[in-house]
Amino acid sequence: MYRTNNCGELNAAASGKEVVLCGWVQKSRDLGGMTFVDLRDRYGITQLVFDMESNADLCGKARKLGREYVIQVKGAVRERSNKNPRIPTGEIEIEVTELNILSSSDHPPFTIEDETDGGDELRMKYRYLDLRRNPVKNNILLRHRVAKTTREYLDSLDFVEIETPVLVNSTPEGARDFLVPSRLHPGNFYALPQSPQTLKQLLMVAGFDRYYQIVKCFRDEDLRADRQPEFTQIDCEMSFVERDDLLDTFEGMIKHLFKEIKGIDFAGPFIKLPYSEAMESYGCDKPDLRFGMKIKDVTRLVKGHGFTVFDGAEYVGGILAEGCASYTRKQLDELTEFVRRPQIGAKGLVYMRYGADGFKSSVDRFYPAGELEKWADSFGAREGDLILLISGDRKQSLSALCELRLEMGNRLGFRKKDKYFPLWVVDFPLLEWDDETGRFFAMHHPFTSPRPEDLKLMENDPGKVRANAYDLVINGVEIGGGSVRIHDSNTQKLMFKTLGFSEEEAQRQFGFLMNAFRYGAPPHAGIAFGMDRLVSMFAGEDSIRDCIAFPKNNSARDVMLETPSVVADQQLKELGISINR
Ligand code: ASP
Repeated sequence: MYRTNNCGELNAAASGKEVVLCGWVQKSRDLGGMTFVDLRDRYGITQLVFDMESNADLCGKARKLGREYVIQVKGAVRERSNKNPRIPTGEIEIEVTELNILSSSDHPPFTIEDETDGGDELRMKYRYLDLRRNPVKNNILLRHRVAKTTREYLDSLDFVEIETPVLVNSTPEGARDFLVPSRLHPGNFYALPQSPQTLKQLLMVAGFDRYYQIVKCFRDEDLRADRQPEFTQIDCEMSFVERDDLLDTFEGMIKHLFKEIKGIDFAGPFIKLPYSEAMESYGCDKPDLRFGMKIKDVTRLVKGHGFTVFDGAEYVGGILAEGCASYTRKQLDELTEFVRRPQIGAKGLVYMRYGADGFKSSVDRFYPAGELEKWADSFGAREGDLILLISGDRKQSLSALCELRLEMGNRLGFRKKDKYFPLWVVDFPLLEWDDETGRFFAMHHPFTSPRPEDLKLMENDPGKVRANAYDLVINGVEIGGGSVRIHDSNTQKLMFKTLGFSEEEAQRQFGFLMNAFRYGAPPHAGIAFGMDRLVSMFAGEDSIRDCIAFPKNNSARDVMLETPSVVADQQLKELGISINR
């Protein structure tokens, strides 16, 4: 037997017991006649003692142990004289009588402790060492619990986990595909799925009724902090449901996860915020509702006072920062710089302070106190408050105000990591116009059904049609999204037509689905959650990378595996691919 116990479970109750432990040498200390070693495994750390007086040979051997050596020890548990209340095994130590070195170790390239001296690149190159550190290890264990709890919940509601293929067809809608060349069919390619969307719909046609899958999906996109080329979804689909049946089911899942993982109960149902209201009041479709600070449209109020910037703007809107009238010139300049950053793109920032001495704005020349009072009224400002305004093109100004609101939320401490505000955003537009290609794209995907009452607008005013689609948003992060699906071939055909597909094209690319709809398709709806984002939210991490065992870096590389990499000419030849090296 390699071990009788792990390194995280022994306490004073086991005093006197003979045990065998295995693990890694975290560190060792020589104190006169004694050598102490911290032995670590996945479960914790146990202190080992080697006594020079009672066994000089053994103690000598212990003194030669290096960091990260893998050892096996035998000995008796005894209560420590110097107890450490911070760790579960802090009451005891093992008086070692036998030591076996199972494996030696080179000196590790960074310290394997909660706080490490290793930079990102080095930690990724030696990810297996990084994974020994508590913060990373705990995220991976948390991830396992999230997956397990999800499966338990869905299983209890008769959902069936069904695998779908990883080698599928490339489709032009959506993001860029990863392609896999076919050797047996030269010139043909598989694609890795961006999601099992059409397959899960076919499973509904097949009658499985309630499907889910914790599944890898692949998108060849430019990377951002919360994106990975391969990521995991909790992918779900249900038959014979309306929108709210589905939302209730998955609200239940999210509540169950919060309860099991974080011990948090959410009182009452999640609010359902229409997309149009989210855009107007928060400037984005994934508002962080941990705090209020709604955006207010003051276009009509501020126009016509000779201030050309406002007079010429399509939109003027702002936010109220309570208690910020004391902001200094420097702080206001910082905010102006912030909104002017190219990623945010506002031209400038107008402010109005409501101080003890009255109103003071950066545009006093155009707005006498009487006018500024109207601003204050319209925002419900009180003495001590600050109003911040942005103007310009409506869409851009709203998105800049969204960023400014979040920045103020940060500055005012409203975005605490341990506070959660989940909500549903509903009634997204069905279609999005793309200026570059001069056509509509499906905002969610082409299988999303229009709201029935908007169907009549499909032919003449498709841009106005609302989708029966929804997102789950928590703390400003899109955690999941889905829709009620089209389930008849005529509406599906109309959708493809609106998206500019010829009938042949639609048939060639999605014929398998439209044909299936001819054989009895149940009404169905579905949703997919970003597992990586969900776990990192529970873990309180900003990047999903910290919750993935072997993630890719910013440039889509795995620096440990050194992937992607060059392959042999022979392999390429077999695949009928020639490239210029
Ligand atoms: N397949 C969709 C996605 O990946 C989610 C869904 O509609 O179920 O975003």
